Amino acid sequence: MVSPLLLGFMGLLAEEWNYTHGGADWEGKCEDGLNQSPIDIFPENLTVIQRGSEVMDSLDLHFQKLDVLGNLTSHNYKLSGNFLNVTENYGSLQTHGKSIGFHFHSPSEHMISGKQFDLEMHIVMTDDEDGIIYYVLGLLFHVNGKTNKFINSVIDAYTAKTTIKLSDAFDGVTQLNNFYHYQGSLTTPPCSEIVNWFIWPKLLDLDSTQLSWFSKFWAENKEFANGHGNNRNTQELNGRVIYFFDGVDVQESFSKSLFVSALILGFFI
Ligand SMILES: [Zn+2]
Repeated sequence: MVSPLLLGFMGLLAEEWNYTHGGADWEGKCEDGLNQSPIDIFPENLTVIQRGSEVMDSLDLHFQKLDVLGNLTSHNYKLSGNFLNVTENYGSLQTHGKSIGFHFHSPSEHMISGKQFDLEMHIVMTDDEDGIIYYVLGLLFHVNGKTNKFINSVIDAYTAKTTIKLSDAFDGVTQLNNFYHYQGSLTTPPCSEIVNWFIWPKLLDLDSTQLSWFSKFWAENKEFANGHGNNRNTQELNGRVIYFFDGVDVQESFSKSLFVSALILGFFI
């Protein structure tokens, strides 16, 4: 006879999951959901919203610096805290969210036109009112030989408490007007279909040493998932609409300099 204690233990084991098959063996919603993430974003599936449109969506980004220590879990590397508050403007509607942290997947989970990228960062945001996960903002990095200052601070946080300025990841952008948006799920079990996904198409710098720092834990680690990275395979669209908001991102320094120019012009004219 198996003791209840042992059954409980076996139950715990049954809940364990890994990336050996890219998530193809995960159960529940992961297996039968129709609005799953990540996805491959093909141009022919896009509904393009042009700049100036009444239904233009934009995200105002409000950053704060935090001193944190990174945490390597059995599935990813994450930094926890409220690094970012977001106001989503959709027509006359506004919603607010705050970050509970961010983590990394390598190679990327989302793909664009069949192309996979070297690293993807997920900033996980909760709704300000009920604290439920609501938005995930995805950033894509590719190796182009340029060192990414923000990623260096993230790597430093693995060994010692480090000041993290999430604004450095966004190159001074404080309002996103150019992004993909669709309804999807968590990309890890239980794959709950609760996520408003925002993917920034701008490819961010990375050098090969920085990429190796992440892949040594996952894709280059034979012990991890038979050489598979910590990325779930892309999922069927099942008729979902992917919006592409085709606006121009606003950089704080740029809007400030415009403001100064306007002041100077106003003074002299
Ligand atoms: Zn993720």
